[in-house]
Amino acid sequence: MRLILLGPPGAGKGTQAQKLVDQHNLVQLSTGDMLRAAVKAETPIGLRAKALMDAGELVPDEVVVQIVSERLDEPDCGNGFILDGFPRTVPQAEALDALLERKRLQLDVVIELVVDEDALLDRVKKRAAESGDNVRSDDNADALKKRLDVYRAQTAPLAQFYREKGLLKQVNGMAAIEEVSSEIDRIFVEVG
Ligand code: AMP
Repeated sequence: MRLILLGPPGAGKGTQAQKLVDQHNLVQLSTGDMLRAAVKAETPIGLRAKALMDAGELVPDEVVVQIVSERLDEPDCGNGFILDGFPRTVPQAEALDALLERKRLQLDVVIELVVDEDALLDRVKKRAAESGDNVRSDDNADALKKRLDVYRAQTAPLAQFYREKGLLKQVNGMAAIEEVSSEIDRIFVEVG
């Protein structure tokens, strides 16, 4: 199974992706995690990305497309993967189409976690409070607001992009974690 999890910051993409990894033996490809690792390791990409990430802005399309393209070539992706946090712009989605075609791979489904934006700020604040010393440098009110604005402007149009391709399935991301994951399981059965 090759899928994209779509949804704003705090929608629960990471949580659901982790469940899918455990249950379906898929690999989670989170561009946010990969970029945070690059920042920590102070690689050239990390050094370029840090300020943008801290401000809640997107890093340039070509940077993330390159990271994803290389990651998809690793053998553990052979059984399928979950793209979490990528693509985030229409040009990234177009680049993904092109690179999947080159690699002779097809997407099975795009699952959008639909959430009420007002509730997200609370969720992300809670996540920041619970993560103690591991708090993400972009889990603060200003950066979150920016990330939501960026999502609305640049990422939300991807729902229509994938609807037109017949790949979009929407799930109520405000439901309890277990309910969301049963909905996703139902979609897996449907998509096969
Ligand atoms: P995330 O963990 O998915 O919320 O991503 C954290 C931050 O990493 C984002 O706010 C962006 O600055 C950056 N980032 C992650 N994925 C992408 C992407 N696909 N395109 C551009 N920037 C990204």
